[in-house]
Amino acid sequence: MKILVVNCGSSSIKFQLYSMPEKRVLAKGLAAKIGEEGSALEYHVGRNAYQVDRAIPDHGEGMKQILATLIGSEDAILDNLDEIGAVGHRVVHGGEEFTGSVEIGQAVLDSIERCSDLAPLHNPANLTGIRAAMRALPEVPHIACFDTAFHATIPKMGYLYALPYEVYKKYGVRRYGFHGTSHRYVAAQTAKLLGKAPEETNCITCHLGNGCSMAAVRNGLSVDTSMGLTPLEGLVMGTRSGDIDPAILFYLADKGYDMESLNKMCNKKSGLLGVSGISNDLRTLREKSDQGDSRAQLAIDIFCYRVKKYVGAYMAVLGRVDAICFTGGIGENSAEVRAAVCRGLEPLGAVLDPELNERRIGHEGDFGTKNSRVRLLVVPTDEEGVIATDTFDIVMQGKTYDGNQLLPVAD
Ligand code: AMP
Repeated sequence: MKILVVNCGSSSIKFQLYSMPEKRVLAKGLAAKIGEEGSALEYHVGRNAYQVDRAIPDHGEGMKQILATLIGSEDAILDNLDEIGAVGHRVVHGGEEFTGSVEIGQAVLDSIERCSDLAPLHNPANLTGIRAAMRALPEVPHIACFDTAFHATIPKMGYLYALPYEVYKKYGVRRYGFHGTSHRYVAAQTAKLLGKAPEETNCITCHLGNGCSMAAVRNGLSVDTSMGLTPLEGLVMGTRSGDIDPAILFYLADKGYDMESLNKMCNKKSGLLGVSGISNDLRTLREKSDQGDSRAQLAIDIFCYRVKKYVGAYMAVLGRVDAICFTGGIGENSAEVRAAVCRGLEPLGAVLDPELNERRIGHEGDFGTKNSRVRLLVVPTDEEGVIATDTFDIVMQGKTYDGNQLLPVAD
Protein backbone atom coordinates (compact mmCIF):
# COMPACT_ATOMS: atom_id res chain seq x y z
CA MET A 1 0.00 0.00 0.00
CA LYS A 2 1.17 3.53 -0.75
CA ILE A 3 0.68 6.16 1.90
CA LEU A 4 1.07 9.90 1.49
CA VAL A 5 2.30 11.78 4.57
CA VAL A 6 1.47 15.48 4.68
CA ASN A 7 2.83 18.15 7.02
CA CYS A 8 1.12 21.44 6.33
CA GLY A 9 2.39 24.79 7.62
CA SER A 10 0.89 28.25 7.13
CA SER A 11 2.66 28.73 3.79
CA SER A 12 4.02 25.28 2.97
CA ILE A 13 3.10 21.63 2.41
CA LYS A 14 5.80 18.99 3.05
CA PHE A 15 5.03 15.55 1.70
CA GLN A 16 6.49 12.05 1.53
CA LEU A 17 5.08 9.09 -0.37
CA TYR A 18 5.77 5.74 1.30
CA SER A 19 5.47 2.16 0.21
CA MET A 20 4.19 0.25 3.24
CA PRO A 21 4.70 -1.86 5.27
CA GLU A 22 8.40 -1.73 4.38
CA LYS A 23 8.41 2.04 5.03
CA ARG A 24 10.30 2.84 1.84
CA VAL A 25 10.26 6.49 0.73
CA LEU A 26 9.25 6.62 -2.97
CA ALA A 27 9.20 10.40 -3.36
CA LYS A 28 9.21 13.51 -1.22
CA GLY A 29 9.05 17.24 -1.58
CA LEU A 30 7.83 20.62 -0.50
CA ALA A 31 5.42 23.20 -1.82
CA ALA A 32 6.86 26.42 -0.39
CA LYS A 33 5.84 30.09 -0.10
CA ILE A 34 2.20 29.25 -0.79
CA GLY A 35 0.22 32.43 -1.43
CA GLU A 36 3.42 34.46 -1.71
CA GLU A 37 5.67 35.64 -4.47
CA GLY A 38 8.33 33.08 -5.39
CA SER A 39 6.22 30.01 -4.60
CA ALA A 40 7.79 26.79 -5.81
CA LEU A 41 7.45 23.02 -5.74
CA GLU A 42 10.45 20.87 -4.85
CA TYR A 43 10.28 17.20 -5.75
CA HIS A 44 12.79 14.43 -4.96
CA VAL A 45 12.77 10.90 -6.33
CA GLY A 46 15.80 8.84 -5.34
CA ARG A 47 18.81 11.01 -6.15
CA ASN A 48 16.92 13.18 -8.61
CA ALA A 49 15.69 16.55 -7.45
CA TYR A 50 13.59 19.12 -9.28
CA GLN A 51 12.35 22.56 -8.45
CA VAL A 52 9.45 23.99 -10.36
CA ASP A 53 8.81 27.71 -9.90
CA ARG A 54 5.12 28.23 -10.35
CA ALA A 55 2.28 30.12 -8.79
CA ILE A 56 0.76 28.28 -5.82
CA PRO A 57 -1.95 30.69 -4.66
CA ASP A 58 -3.39 28.47 -1.90
CA HIS A 59 -3.10 25.07 -0.19
CA GLY A 60 -5.76 23.52 -2.44
CA GLU A 61 -3.69 24.37 -5.50
CA GLY A 62 -0.52 23.20 -3.70
CA MET A 63 -2.11 19.80 -3.02
CA LYS A 64 -3.28 19.52 -6.65
CA GLN A 65 0.20 20.30 -7.92
CA ILE A 66 1.81 17.76 -5.59
CA LEU A 67 -0.56 15.02 -6.76
CA ALA A 68 -0.12 16.04 -10.41
CA THR A 69 3.65 15.76 -9.97
CA LEU A 70 3.35 12.29 -8.46
CA ILE A 71 1.47 11.05 -11.53
CA GLY A 72 2.47 13.36 -14.34
CA SER A 73 6.11 14.44 -14.10
CA GLU A 74 9.04 12.89 -15.95
CA ASP A 75 9.93 11.10 -12.72
CA ALA A 76 6.29 10.14 -11.98
CA ILE A 77 6.13 7.53 -9.27
CA LEU A 78 2.43 6.59 -9.66
CA ASP A 79 0.36 5.53 -12.68
CA ASN A 80 -2.73 7.00 -11.10
CA LEU A 81 -3.91 8.43 -7.81
CA ASP A 82 -5.94 5.30 -6.95
CA GLU A 83 -2.66 3.75 -5.87
CA ILE A 84 -2.61 6.01 -2.79
CA GLY A 85 -4.35 3.97 -0.10
CA ALA A 86 -4.40 6.54 2.71
CA VAL A 87 -3.07 9.92 3.81
CA GLY A 88 -1.39 10.62 7.19
CA HIS A 89 -1.42 14.19 8.49
CA ARG A 90 0.75 15.82 11.12
CA VAL A 91 -1.35 17.89 13.52
CA VAL A 92 0.43 20.01 16.12
CA HIS A 93 -2.13 20.29 18.93
CA GLY A 94 -4.53 17.58 20.03
CA GLY A 95 -5.29 19.19 23.39
CA GLU A 96 -6.62 16.73 25.96
CA GLU A 97 -8.91 15.17 23.36
CA PHE A 98 -6.39 13.05 21.48
CA THR A 99 -4.04 10.57 23.10
CA GLY A 100 -3.28 8.76 19.84
CA SER A 101 -3.65 8.86 16.07
CA VAL A 102 -7.20 8.73 14.68
CA GLU A 103 -9.08 8.52 11.41
CA ILE A 104 -10.43 11.93 10.49
CA GLY A 105 -14.18 12.45 10.26
CA GLN A 106 -16.32 15.50 10.92
CA ALA A 107 -16.09 15.10 14.73
CA VAL A 108 -12.28 14.95 14.57
CA LEU A 109 -12.16 18.02 12.31
CA ASP A 110 -14.34 19.87 14.84
CA SER A 111 -12.04 18.83 17.71
CA ILE A 112 -8.90 19.93 15.85
CA GLU A 113 -10.63 23.24 15.24
CA ARG A 114 -11.39 23.57 18.96
CA CYS A 115 -7.69 22.95 19.71
CA SER A 116 -6.78 25.84 17.36
CA ASP A 117 -7.34 28.17 20.27
CA LEU A 118 -4.27 26.56 21.93
CA ALA A 119 -2.10 26.59 18.76
CA PRO A 120 -3.31 29.50 16.64
CA LEU A 121 -0.20 29.48 14.44
CA HIS A 122 -0.25 25.75 13.69
CA ASN A 123 -3.63 24.01 13.87
CA PRO A 124 -5.46 26.26 11.37
CA ALA A 125 -2.67 25.56 8.84
CA ASN A 126 -2.84 21.83 9.57
CA LEU A 127 -6.62 21.93 9.08
CA THR A 128 -6.29 23.80 5.78
CA GLY A 129 -3.96 21.05 4.57
CA ILE A 130 -6.25 18.26 5.76
CA ARG A 131 -9.27 19.81 4.03
CA ALA A 132 -7.31 20.35 0.79
CA ALA A 133 -6.08 16.74 0.83
CA MET A 134 -9.56 15.40 1.65
CA ARG A 135 -10.99 17.31 -1.31
CA ALA A 136 -8.23 16.05 -3.62
CA LEU A 137 -8.40 12.43 -2.38
CA PRO A 138 -11.97 12.02 -1.10
CA GLU A 139 -12.15 8.22 -1.37
CA VAL A 140 -9.30 7.28 0.95
CA PRO A 141 -9.01 7.36 4.76
CA HIS A 142 -7.19 10.36 6.23
CA ILE A 143 -5.43 9.88 9.56
CA ALA A 144 -4.35 12.58 12.05
CA CYS A 145 -1.18 12.13 14.14
CA PHE A 146 -0.74 14.63 16.94
CA ASP A 147 2.50 16.17 18.23
CA THR A 148 0.99 16.26 21.70
CA ALA A 149 -0.25 12.63 21.84
CA PHE A 150 2.91 10.94 23.13
CA HIS A 151 2.86 13.22 26.17
CA ALA A 152 -0.67 12.18 27.20
CA THR A 153 0.87 9.91 29.85
CA ILE A 154 2.50 12.73 31.82
CA PRO A 155 0.97 12.58 35.31
CA LYS A 156 -1.00 15.53 36.61
CA MET A 157 1.84 16.44 38.98
CA GLY A 158 3.99 16.95 35.87
CA TYR A 159 1.52 18.72 33.61
CA LEU A 160 -0.25 21.09 35.97
CA TYR A 161 1.17 24.58 36.56
CA ALA A 162 0.93 25.94 40.07
CA LEU A 163 -1.55 28.59 38.98
CA PRO A 164 -5.11 28.86 40.36
CA TYR A 165 -6.77 25.54 39.50
CA GLU A 166 -9.65 27.21 37.66
CA VAL A 167 -7.22 28.49 34.99
CA TYR A 168 -6.73 24.82 34.05
CA LYS A 169 -10.41 23.94 34.35
CA LYS A 170 -11.69 27.00 32.49
CA TYR A 171 -9.03 27.53 29.84
CA GLY A 172 -7.11 24.25 29.60
CA VAL A 173 -3.88 25.94 30.76
CA ARG A 174 -1.48 23.01 31.41
CA ARG A 175 1.63 21.41 29.96
CA TYR A 176 0.81 19.57 26.72
CA GLY A 177 4.28 19.11 25.24
CA PHE A 178 5.22 18.87 21.55
CA HIS A 179 7.60 17.00 19.21
CA GLY A 180 5.81 13.91 20.58
CA THR A 181 6.14 11.93 17.36
CA SER A 182 9.90 12.48 17.45
CA HIS A 183 10.30 11.63 21.15
CA ARG A 184 8.16 8.53 20.65
CA TYR A 185 10.27 7.34 17.71
CA VAL A 186 13.57 8.02 19.49
CA ALA A 187 12.43 6.26 22.69
CA ALA A 188 11.25 3.19 20.73
CA GLN A 189 14.44 3.10 18.66
CA THR A 190 16.54 3.46 21.81
CA ALA A 191 14.86 0.38 23.29
CA LYS A 192 15.74 -1.51 20.09
CA LEU A 193 19.37 -0.36 20.22
CA LEU A 194 19.58 -1.37 23.87
CA GLY A 195 18.01 -4.75 23.11
CA LYS A 196 15.32 -4.10 25.71
CA ALA A 197 11.53 -4.03 25.64
CA PRO A 198 10.21 -0.46 25.38
CA GLU A 199 8.21 -1.02 28.57
CA GLU A 200 11.47 -1.70 30.39
CA THR A 201 13.43 1.24 28.95
CA ASN A 202 14.02 4.57 30.69
CA CYS A 203 15.61 7.33 28.66
CA ILE A 204 16.00 11.06 28.26
CA THR A 205 15.29 12.16 24.70
CA CYS A 206 16.73 15.48 23.47
CA HIS A 207 15.21 16.84 20.26
CA LEU A 208 17.55 19.71 19.38
CA GLY A 209 16.77 21.47 16.13
CA ASN A 210 15.51 24.93 15.39
CA GLY A 211 12.78 24.05 17.88
CA CYS A 212 14.08 22.12 20.90
CA SER A 213 12.47 19.95 23.55
CA MET A 214 13.35 17.11 25.89
CA ALA A 215 11.32 14.28 27.36
CA ALA A 216 11.74 12.00 30.37
CA VAL A 217 10.60 8.56 29.23
CA ARG A 218 9.86 5.88 31.84
CA ASN A 219 9.01 2.36 30.70
CA GLY A 220 8.55 3.65 27.14
CA LEU A 221 6.11 6.41 28.11
CA SER A 222 6.54 10.17 28.42
CA VAL A 223 6.39 11.25 32.08
CA ASP A 224 7.65 14.81 31.60
CA THR A 225 8.64 17.16 28.81
CA SER A 226 10.15 20.62 28.54
CA MET A 227 7.64 22.34 26.25
CA GLY A 228 4.42 23.44 27.89
CA LEU A 229 1.10 25.01 26.98
CA THR A 230 2.89 26.17 23.85
CA PRO A 231 6.25 25.28 22.25
CA LEU A 232 7.84 28.32 23.93
CA GLU A 233 8.72 26.77 27.31
CA GLY A 234 11.87 24.85 28.19
CA LEU A 235 15.09 24.81 26.23
CA VAL A 236 16.75 27.72 24.45
CA MET A 237 15.85 27.43 20.73
CA GLY A 238 16.76 29.09 17.45
CA THR A 239 14.54 32.13 18.06
CA ARG A 240 12.60 31.16 21.23
CA SER A 241 13.72 32.02 24.75
CA GLY A 242 12.57 28.84 26.50
CA ASP A 243 12.21 29.23 30.27
CA ILE A 244 12.23 32.77 31.62
CA ASP A 245 10.89 34.33 34.79
CA PRO A 246 7.30 35.23 33.80
CA ALA A 247 7.67 38.46 35.79
CA ILE A 248 10.06 39.69 33.08
CA LEU A 249 7.00 40.13 30.88
CA PHE A 250 5.14 42.22 33.50
CA TYR A 251 8.29 44.25 34.03
CA LEU A 252 8.69 44.93 30.31
CA ALA A 253 4.95 45.66 29.96
CA ASP A 254 5.49 48.35 32.58
CA LYS A 255 8.28 49.72 30.41
CA GLY A 256 5.86 50.09 27.49
CA TYR A 257 6.05 46.83 25.55
CA ASP A 258 2.64 45.62 24.36
CA MET A 259 1.41 42.00 24.15
CA GLU A 260 2.20 41.61 20.49
CA SER A 261 5.78 42.84 20.76
CA LEU A 262 6.45 40.66 23.84
CA ASN A 263 5.04 37.64 22.03
CA LYS A 264 7.24 38.37 19.05
CA MET A 265 10.26 38.98 21.26
CA CYS A 266 9.97 35.64 23.07
CA ASN A 267 9.08 33.53 20.01
CA LYS A 268 10.93 35.15 17.12
CA LYS A 269 13.72 37.37 18.46
CA SER A 270 15.17 35.41 21.38
CA GLY A 271 17.11 32.16 21.78
CA LEU A 272 20.34 31.75 19.81
CA LEU A 273 19.37 34.70 17.61
CA GLY A 274 18.53 37.00 20.51
CA VAL A 275 21.66 36.36 22.56
CA SER A 276 24.08 36.37 19.62
CA GLY A 277 22.39 39.16 17.67
CA ILE A 278 23.60 37.29 14.58
CA SER A 279 21.68 34.15 13.68
CA ASN A 280 19.35 31.38 14.84
CA ASP A 281 21.55 28.85 13.05
CA LEU A 282 24.12 26.97 15.11
CA ARG A 283 26.51 26.52 12.20
CA THR A 284 26.65 30.26 11.57
CA LEU A 285 27.28 30.89 15.27
CA ARG A 286 30.11 28.33 15.30
CA GLU A 287 31.76 30.17 12.38
CA LYS A 288 31.32 33.56 14.04
CA SER A 289 32.64 32.28 17.35
CA ASP A 290 35.69 30.84 15.58
CA GLN A 291 36.26 34.34 14.19
CA GLY A 292 36.25 35.71 17.73
CA ASP A 293 32.64 36.79 18.27
CA SER A 294 32.11 36.28 22.00
CA ARG A 295 28.33 36.68 21.94
CA ALA A 296 28.03 33.89 19.36
CA GLN A 297 29.91 31.64 21.81
CA LEU A 298 27.81 32.87 24.73
CA ALA A 299 24.62 31.91 22.87
CA ILE A 300 25.98 28.38 22.28
CA ASP A 301 27.05 28.11 25.93
CA ILE A 302 23.62 29.17 27.24
CA PHE A 303 21.96 26.73 24.83
CA CYS A 304 24.07 23.77 26.06
CA TYR A 305 23.80 24.73 29.73
CA ARG A 306 19.99 24.68 29.56
CA VAL A 307 20.02 21.20 28.00
CA LYS A 308 22.38 20.00 30.76
CA LYS A 309 20.05 21.39 33.45
CA TYR A 310 17.12 19.44 32.00
CA VAL A 311 19.26 16.29 31.80
CA GLY A 312 19.90 16.65 35.53
CA ALA A 313 16.22 17.29 36.27
CA TYR A 314 15.09 14.26 34.26
CA MET A 315 17.74 12.03 35.84
CA ALA A 316 16.19 12.92 39.18
CA VAL A 317 12.67 12.32 37.79
CA LEU A 318 13.56 8.91 36.35
CA GLY A 319 16.04 7.60 38.95
CA ARG A 320 17.38 4.91 36.64
CA VAL A 321 18.38 6.22 33.21
CA ASP A 322 19.36 3.68 30.54
CA ALA A 323 20.25 6.21 27.84
CA ILE A 324 20.44 9.88 26.92
CA CYS A 325 19.49 10.24 23.26
CA PHE A 326 20.16 13.12 20.88
CA THR A 327 18.17 13.91 17.75
CA GLY A 328 17.23 16.85 15.47
CA GLY A 329 19.55 18.93 13.27
CA ILE A 330 21.75 19.95 16.23
CA GLY A 331 21.42 16.77 18.30
CA GLU A 332 22.33 14.53 15.37
CA ASN A 333 25.08 16.66 13.87
CA SER A 334 26.78 18.78 16.50
CA ALA A 335 29.47 16.82 18.37
CA GLU A 336 30.35 20.10 20.07
CA VAL A 337 26.90 20.53 21.64
CA ARG A 338 26.75 16.87 22.73
CA ALA A 339 30.18 17.21 24.33
CA ALA A 340 29.24 20.42 26.16
CA VAL A 341 26.00 18.86 27.46
CA CYS A 342 27.71 15.67 28.67
CA ARG A 343 30.79 17.33 30.16
CA GLY A 344 30.74 16.76 33.93
CA LEU A 345 28.07 14.05 33.86
CA GLU A 346 30.66 11.31 34.53
CA PRO A 347 29.83 11.01 38.26
CA LEU A 348 26.20 10.49 37.19
CA GLY A 349 27.20 7.53 35.01
CA ALA A 350 27.32 9.14 31.55
CA VAL A 351 30.83 9.02 30.06
CA LEU A 352 31.41 10.40 26.57
CA ASP A 353 34.00 8.96 24.19
CA PRO A 354 35.42 12.06 22.43
CA GLU A 355 36.60 10.19 19.35
CA LEU A 356 33.36 8.29 18.89
CA ASN A 357 31.42 11.53 19.42
CA GLU A 358 33.32 13.24 16.59
CA ARG A 359 32.62 10.32 14.29
CA ARG A 360 28.97 9.95 15.27
CA ILE A 361 27.67 12.73 13.05
CA GLY A 362 24.26 12.10 11.53
CA HIS A 363 24.44 8.34 12.18
CA GLU A 364 22.62 6.22 14.67
CA GLY A 365 24.63 4.70 17.51
CA ASP A 366 26.63 5.16 20.70
CA PHE A 367 29.00 7.99 21.46
CA GLY A 368 29.67 6.97 25.07
CA THR A 369 32.49 4.77 26.29
CA LYS A 370 31.99 1.01 26.62
CA ASN A 371 31.89 1.44 30.41
CA SER A 372 29.37 4.27 30.42
CA ARG A 373 26.52 3.05 32.67
CA VAL A 374 24.16 5.50 30.93
CA ARG A 375 24.36 4.87 27.19
CA LEU A 376 24.85 8.00 25.07
CA LEU A 377 23.12 7.71 21.70
CA VAL A 378 22.54 9.59 18.48
CA VAL A 379 19.17 8.56 17.04
CA PRO A 380 18.21 10.39 13.82
CA THR A 381 14.49 11.07 14.10
CA ASP A 382 11.83 9.86 11.66
CA GLU A 383 8.56 11.65 12.34
CA GLU A 384 7.18 11.02 8.85
CA GLY A 385 7.92 7.31 9.19
CA VAL A 386 5.92 7.18 12.43
CA ILE A 387 2.98 8.94 10.76
CA ALA A 388 3.15 6.48 7.84
CA THR A 389 3.23 3.53 10.26
CA ASP A 390 0.31 4.81 12.36
CA THR A 391 -1.70 5.45 9.19
CA PHE A 392 -0.95 1.97 7.87
CA ASP A 393 -1.77 0.32 11.21
CA ILE A 394 -5.10 2.11 11.52
CA VAL A 395 -6.15 1.49 7.92
CA MET A 396 -4.95 -2.10 7.54
CA GLN A 397 -5.25 -3.52 11.00
CA GLY A 398 -7.71 -1.25 12.76
CA LYS A 399 -4.91 -0.85 15.32
CA THR A 400 -4.67 2.53 16.96
CA TYR A 401 -1.62 3.82 18.78
CA ASP A 402 -2.80 5.22 22.04
CA GLY A 403 -0.48 7.15 24.32
CA ASN A 404 -2.27 5.71 27.33
CA GLN A 405 -1.98 2.09 26.38
CA LEU A 406 0.80 1.11 28.75
CA LEU A 407 0.26 3.27 31.75
CA PRO A 408 -2.88 4.68 33.35
CA VAL A 409 -2.67 8.45 33.59
CA ALA A 410 -2.17 9.17 37.28
CA ASP A 411 -4.71 11.69 38.49
P1 AMP B 1 16.30 21.21 12.38
O1 AMP B 1 15.27 22.20 12.82
O2 AMP B 1 16.14 19.86 13.04
O3 AMP B 1 16.44 21.12 10.89
O4 AMP B 1 17.74 21.76 12.91
C1 AMP B 1 18.26 23.00 12.49
C2 AMP B 1 19.50 23.31 13.33
O5 AMP B 1 20.45 22.25 13.15
C3 AMP B 1 20.21 24.59 12.92
O6 AMP B 1 20.60 25.32 14.08
C4 AMP B 1 21.44 24.10 12.21
O7 AMP B 1 22.54 24.98 12.34
C5 AMP B 1 21.73 22.80 12.95
N1 AMP B 1 22.58 21.91 12.13
C6 AMP B 1 22.25 21.27 10.99
N2 AMP B 1 23.31 20.59 10.50
C7 AMP B 1 24.34 20.81 11.36
C8 AMP B 1 25.71 20.41 11.42
N3 AMP B 1 26.23 19.62 10.48
N4 AMP B 1 26.45 20.83 12.47
C9 AMP B 1 25.94 21.63 13.41
N5 AMP B 1 24.64 22.06 13.42
C10 AMP B 1 23.86 21.66 12.41
